Amino acid sequence: MEMVNIKINGMPLSVPGGTTILEAARYAGIEIPTLCYLKEINEIGACRICMVEVAGPRGNRLVSACVFPVNEGMEIFTNTPRVHESRKTTLELLLSAHERKCLSCVRSGSCELQKLCLEYGVDDESRFDGEKPVWEIDTTATHMVRDNNKCILCRRCVAACDNQYVGVIGANARGFDTHIGSAFEKGLASFACVECGQCIVNCPTGALYEKDDTKAVFEAINDPDKFVIVNTAPSIRVTLGECFGYKVGTNVTGKMAAALHRLGFNKVFDTDFSADLTIMEEGTELLHRIKEGGKLPLITSCSPGWVNFCEHYYPEQIDNLSSCKSPQQMFGAVMKTWYAQKMNIDPAKIVVVAVMPCTAKKGENKRDDQSASGFADVDYSITTRELASMIKTAGINFDLLPDEQFDNPLGEGTGAGVIFGATGGVMEAALRYAAEALTGKELDNIEFTEVRGTEGIKEATYTVGGLELKVAAVSGIKNAQAVMEKVKAGTCDYQFIEIMACPGGCVNGGGQPIQPASVRNFVDLKGLRAQAIYEADKNLPLRKSQDNPAIKMIYDEFFGEPGSHKAHDILHTSYVKKSLYND
Ligand code: SF4
Ligand code: SF4
Ligand code: SF4
Repeated sequence: MEMVNIKINGMPLSVPGGTTILEAARYAGIEIPTLCYLKEINEIGACRICMVEVAGPRGNRLVSACVFPVNEGMEIFTNTPRVHESRKTTLELLLSAHERKCLSCVRSGSCELQKLCLEYGVDDESRFDGEKPVWEIDTTATHMVRDNNKCILCRRCVAACDNQYVGVIGANARGFDTHIGSAFEKGLASFACVECGQCIVNCPTGALYEKDDTKAVFEAINDPDKFVIVNTAPSIRVTLGECFGYKVGTNVTGKMAAALHRLGFNKVFDTDFSADLTIMEEGTELLHRIKEGGKLPLITSCSPGWVNFCEHYYPEQIDNLSSCKSPQQMFGAVMKTWYAQKMNIDPAKIVVVAVMPCTAKKGENKRDDQSASGFADVDYSITTRELASMIKTAGINFDLLPDEQFDNPLGEGTGAGVIFGATGGVMEAALRYAAEALTGKELDNIEFTEVRGTEGIKEATYTVGGLELKVAAVSGIKNAQAVMEKVKAGTCDYQFIEIMACPGGCVNGGGQPIQPASVRNFVDLKGLRAQAIYEADKNLPLRKSQDNPAIKMIYDEFFGEPGSHKAHDILHTSYVKKSLYND
């Protein structure tokens, strides 16, 4: 690789040719602020916050560091009075059209605009104050709110949505009237938004946020007539810590269980249990479809963002979806049937709260055909961020918490359940089950490493019990679309496909802690969080779903066997063909 020699703030540096000034500065340990820049997704040089000075024959000029490549001999200045003034003026202009309500803003403390205003001494008054646009807040979607009054038109959400191959939001109108919206100024609910929340995690301000269910959950906890059960998805244990200042990839399972106990839930269970249950049902469904000549490839159905995409964009393919409910929904269904019966609790009094990495889960629990007991399987689905906010509101000092265990009997999961949190995890867990189910022998090596990693499409072929199984693990809707084109054309020879809507899987879900662009652009967020997931799997005594004692108990006591009639009634669902427009 050809290297070029440059100077940043007088310091000599050698960097690969083609590097942008922004990246070169990182090599020198200098962080240049950005608002619109998202590596490989939104490289548009629009916000002008990253301006730096570059020396030239006719004097220094201001350029955008995020899109300007370095060249031999370039001299760059990142911290001059002119640079400072330019950034400050940009911030003042942004604030002049901004609803400044930091005190009650959902992003106060994690807002990239607020942080820059503090650093550049820009206060509430703007010398550019004048006419301000007032935008109607879009609350039409099931999972999120869009508030253009706090939007700075960085277009990160638009790029994130396009990167998901959905593209239901964009910049409407021009000039002073420019705003982010959908076609014909209709609310988001009118379009086939898949509810993935990738726009939210990429937004630098409080313009986008999930619908908040924390108040309702607190009310349920404080209602003496309710029995409130919480369960936490596999990935939450490796991401929740980030909301309390822990390093990316820190496993805080014990502190999380302790916090949930202190919040006052009646039972604190682990969604890993129902991830194991999903494997028993889905693995059985896969083997049945292969042996009986059923519809193949079988495609996983745990990711509601992906299910939404399939129903809206590939409705003719819905028979490829596994009929299994997601782990969130299976958990709720089991709570209000088997558990209610076993503990002699009226299911009407049970409130199931699921802590999920995903905003689409808020829509999933409202789907028809998801109420096995006659009551909704899951009452509230909250994001990792909402759980963190509840812990903070309750005055719980997360740092001081001891490590505690989940409650019994459904606090026990296996490594196979934990790895659901990363792309390829469901596939690997299913293979750990299918291989033993086909051979009747215990597996020597339970690690199917070919389907691990953060790439968008991973393929592998395994021979298990004399059966050749061609599989793929896919994450990100753009990759799902590429694979689905092959499925639709009949040119796809996989028997089993795992699809997760969010790039990297649940560890990078739209409900996960929001990291600023400086982290999203330069730290391998998906990789570090996934690494913590596989570490957790390695350290667990049980690593196959079929070995979970709670799974054995529930089939012995209630369902009979995987795929039984009763299991189908309670743990399986159906899908609906939908169009690209909802009205
Ligand atoms: S978006 Fe940021 S700057 Fe605007 S009100 Fe919220 S915290 Fe304050
Ligand atoms: S939730 Fe996903 S699909 Fe919907 S607007 Fe946001 S990025 Fe697009
Ligand atoms: S909604 Fe957020 S991400 Fe989208 S343009 Fe506005 S500030 Fe940027």
